Amino acid sequence: MKLTSRARFSTVCLHAGQDPDPATGAIITPIYQTSTYVQEALGRHKGFEYARTQNPTRMALERNLAAIEGGKAAFAFASGMAAIGAIATLLQSGDHVVVSDNTYGGTFRLFDKVLRRYQLSFTYVDTSKLDEVERAFTKTTRMLFVETPTNPVMRLTDLRAAADLAHSHDVRLVVDNTFASPYVQRPIELGADIVTHSTTKYLNGHSDSVGGIAIAQRDDDIEWLKFVQNAEGAILGPFDSWLVLRGTKTLPLRMQQHNANGLALAQFLCAHAKVKHVYYPGLPSHPQHELATRQMRGFGGMLAFELGSLEAARRLLNTVKLHALAESLGGVETLISHPATMTHASVPADRRQALGITDGLVRISAGIEDIEDLKDDLGQALDAV
Ligand SMILES: *Cc1c(COP(=O)(O)O)cnc(C)c1O
Repeated sequence: MKLTSRARFSTVCLHAGQDPDPATGAIITPIYQTSTYVQEALGRHKGFEYARTQNPTRMALERNLAAIEGGKAAFAFASGMAAIGAIATLLQSGDHVVVSDNTYGGTFRLFDKVLRRYQLSFTYVDTSKLDEVERAFTKTTRMLFVETPTNPVMRLTDLRAAADLAHSHDVRLVVDNTFASPYVQRPIELGADIVTHSTTKYLNGHSDSVGGIAIAQRDDDIEWLKFVQNAEGAILGPFDSWLVLRGTKTLPLRMQQHNANGLALAQFLCAHAKVKHVYYPGLPSHPQHELATRQMRGFGGMLAFELGSLEAARRLLNTVKLHALAESLGGVETLISHPATMTHASVPADRRQALGITDGLVRISAGIEDIEDLKDDLGQALDAV
């Protein structure tokens, strides 16, 4: 199973990083559940010494995900937050970071409550407006941290333009690509220096593992991330690595269905009298629909819609049957949630209001069920509103 450099996306997802097991020929990379490796003689070993530093299952996943994102190397961590924490160690005390203003809540918490204690500073701006990003840059800015689309109002950032702007100021562009997945969006091709994912979401895709990945392109970043992965030790375990490897084999197929169901649900909700507004980049009414068409392949499985009041949202969320009321996203099952009281409850009310996260806003992570069943379920729940 030698991949040529021309191998297309689905082939890369299936095969990259995975050779048949050298001991047995097993087609699937085994779960190397071991803590150490026996050495042949003093100073002579097979390149494996201790499992925090090297694990064949994790290394297969890292090569797989580096190839999928088009990066040079990848490093797998125990969670998406651990990956972002490791990326943040590229910074030194006194450095400044510009961040998308409605970045994932856990990222905001890490930056605001933990990393500010180490003399790092963060400015939150609407990165869909690159003139505001440029105004936020200072002499000490070292990183532009972007999420696109954002959660839950689906605002986009033009990644190519953001990369050009960052590089003209000698700033790294880091993209959290969790919401889109590498099927939908490939930030490194657009100029990003580092891409990160919570593999918990689309990459694993089956709601049964928590993990994170950092994919890098610059040699100095690769060297540091490799060092810090071992030094801090927040590695992804072999079983979770194996689960994510299993997930990426079907990433293209799953994403095609997430894209199709996301678009169909957005259109269904858009045409419904009780829905006041739908946030989905695939709708022509989305203010950045043109950018979405250019930058994304399909428009993803995430959407949000406005019902006007907390009471209306409560009615809907308590009446759905097939849609599971839960945080998280990117799994094969459709999830529905209420950002204001669930994922964004820790965001101060005035900030929520400014971001458009109202009490009547509902978010859906479209799964891969039959679309007619999803529409039936939403339809009957909207009748109760
Ligand atoms: C879930 C998520 C994270 C954090 O990942 P964990 O695996 O939960 O630690 C980071 N960014 C985004 C966009 C996410 O959705």
